[in-house]
Amino acid sequence: MEAHARLLLEAFDLAGELTKLPGENDNVLVETDDGRRFVLKVMPSTTAGDLELEHAAIAALAAAEPSLTLPTVVPTTSGDLVAWSAEGHAAQLLEFVDGTPWGDAGEPSSARCRSLGSLLAGMAAALQGVDHPNATRTHRWDLARAAQHRALTALIDSPARRRALDEAFALFTAYAPFLAGLPQGLIHGDANDENILVGAVDIVGVLDFGDCLRNPFVCELAITLSYVMQRSAAPFERAADVIAGYHERRALLRDEVDVLFPLILGRLAVTVATCAERRTLDASRASWFVSEKPAWELLLALIDVSPADATERLCAATDIVPAKTGPSPDALREVRRRRLNPALSLAYDEPLKIVRGRGAHLFDHRGRPFLDLVNNVCHVGHCHPHVVAAGQLQMAQLNTNSRYLYDQLTDYAERLCATLPDELDTCFFVNSGSEANELALRLAKTHTGRDDMLVVDGAYHGHTSALIAISPYKFMGRGGSGRADDWVHVVPVADGYRGAFKGADEATGVRYGDEVGRVIAEAGRPIAGFISESLLGCGGQVVPPPGYFARAVEHVRAAGGLFIADEVQVGFGRVGTHMWAFEQQTVVPDIVVMGKPIGNGHPMAAVVTRRAIADSFDNGMEFFATFGGNPVSCAIGMAVLDVIESEGLQQHALDVGSHFKHGLEQLAKRHEIIGDVRGVGLFLGVELVTDRAALTPAREEATSVVNAMRQRGFLLSTDGPLGNVIKIKPPMVIDRHDVDRTLRALDEAFRTLLS
Ligand code: PMP
Repeated sequence: MEAHARLLLEAFDLAGELTKLPGENDNVLVETDDGRRFVLKVMPSTTAGDLELEHAAIAALAAAEPSLTLPTVVPTTSGDLVAWSAEGHAAQLLEFVDGTPWGDAGEPSSARCRSLGSLLAGMAAALQGVDHPNATRTHRWDLARAAQHRALTALIDSPARRRALDEAFALFTAYAPFLAGLPQGLIHGDANDENILVGAVDIVGVLDFGDCLRNPFVCELAITLSYVMQRSAAPFERAADVIAGYHERRALLRDEVDVLFPLILGRLAVTVATCAERRTLDASRASWFVSEKPAWELLLALIDVSPADATERLCAATDIVPAKTGPSPDALREVRRRRLNPALSLAYDEPLKIVRGRGAHLFDHRGRPFLDLVNNVCHVGHCHPHVVAAGQLQMAQLNTNSRYLYDQLTDYAERLCATLPDELDTCFFVNSGSEANELALRLAKTHTGRDDMLVVDGAYHGHTSALIAISPYKFMGRGGSGRADDWVHVVPVADGYRGAFKGADEATGVRYGDEVGRVIAEAGRPIAGFISESLLGCGGQVVPPPGYFARAVEHVRAAGGLFIADEVQVGFGRVGTHMWAFEQQTVVPDIVVMGKPIGNGHPMAAVVTRRAIADSFDNGMEFFATFGGNPVSCAIGMAVLDVIESEGLQQHALDVGSHFKHGLEQLAKRHEIIGDVRGVGLFLGVELVTDRAALTPAREEATSVVNAMRQRGFLLSTDGPLGNVIKIKPPMVIDRHDVDRTLRALDEAFRTLLS
């Protein structure tokens, strides 16, 4: 206090009694002998620019809402609005504002809540025009960045609370990508129960602009709601009143309403996480923890409410219509039964109705986010804004076919080839992985003048007639009738776990490679080519041991055949170490087939080959695919490559994937049923067995785990010829928190289901 007294005297020529004020800031009440009262604020981390911003905000609000009591800055004796303490900290003297803070005013009435909502809406309008470079600052309470505190969850001892906090951060994080598209402007940023002053009904004052920053406007509302709900016996009803008051004055957009509940939970999460952190710094500082108890209580009460139910209740006092979610899942199943091919299958015991996707999440019709751990198609994240914008822009400008010249096709071909070894220099563009594999077969057959193909046991390459013929996954699987075509020769899968040769070393790879030589010899027919995924997806997430492709392809080439690498599932940086999975082994394929992730969900695919092979194909018959390589597809493909590069997703796949694999290996130590953990980057597999020695496949158990995980909010699938491999191939944007949550949920699922 001595320093405060000195500062007061030197800068403001004032003396009096000083009392520390409650709250987390260094605020001191100054009572002078002649009965005047002030608040001295010393702000160690505040810059002169920050204060200019605060003053601009206060001035704008004062102009718009003249009846409101706002902080009034007392100038120093030399006329400055800021004083500087001996330590160089900014300080301000404010007129003391008399009034009842929201938190001290008892249970709020509906009318008071409406008045608060109206004020917040008025503030949005008043602050909208405030422009200052410091508005783009951030700080620990920046709600749009609540996820920055996610790691603090580890500080919570109680498992129930830790789970709730983890869920709250997870919900916030799933919805956070939607914030970027919402109306933004300067907000107060901390209109909490101490900073709002109430009169008989109306709000009469707003204090402490120290946290103002540019944010989506809806964050202001969510922050205040988190306190209103903490302080009320009827949290949803009073929140609904605030929202009604707000909406009357500033109509909320549907998209704003959708994020309100996740934002409220986000704010509560930041409050309790901050308290947990501060407890480690100074547990005796009571002012830091005033909201801790009510915030926890509210968070625990809200955490199991579905976002759709919450949103409905929050909007109960408005005319806002809850998001249209259409017919129920059961109704959709009924229409599918009547109108669609019965061979279409649905995932999970309780199929999901999905209404939107963003980043690594899919959202069901109840607003619940599901972490997508299996959709390798939406490679750079569901509905990535850059990809969406590229498609929309191009669709609005031109879409035509490859019989015309346009930049998109040639630019994309150049860009794609630049990701490949030099010999792979000629592109064909089509619309699906199947179409691309069909074309690859034609290329191999035309170039060699032969028909016979080698395929890997358990492999899947597409749904056309010729591809079913080279897909043992299909012809040997349910409904299949075995190998029907004598031009197809099946080689064993190079599976060092379950196959004839065990191990992950080069010697094992070479032995499996020699199996290809054996099958060629046994076939006794000229070979057009060998088609294989670089890592086997449907075959059960198998990583062929090193040396495998070098030896296998040596045999194929010696027999005059070509090597087709199917990168439909595994390409575009997923393996982490390289852009293409085949690059993990030393062979450059003759033909590379790309699909799924190439357009992030837009239907496109490509075949890239060597010039000589493409030349053989150019035998006079025109090649034309109506949609292949159209400008929209090329623009989208280009945007996908942009994002992989700009977001460093290949390296990210390596980092996050290694972390994931390590975590799965730890699980394998605890759960006997995990026979094998394998994969590279973000292409992982967990093979379940009921007997580790006999490798007895645990097919039903794998299905149960996947269904249990779906109930917990995680989307996985099973695959492999025995159906006992849990497949992991998420959008490449999942982060470590997602992985850690997945591992915890898997641990629980294994424990509860299989113990
Ligand atoms: N090759 C592989 C390895 C695949 O996984 C798939 C699809 N699952 C295809 C080809 C066929 O691709 P599409 O479904 O786009 O025709």
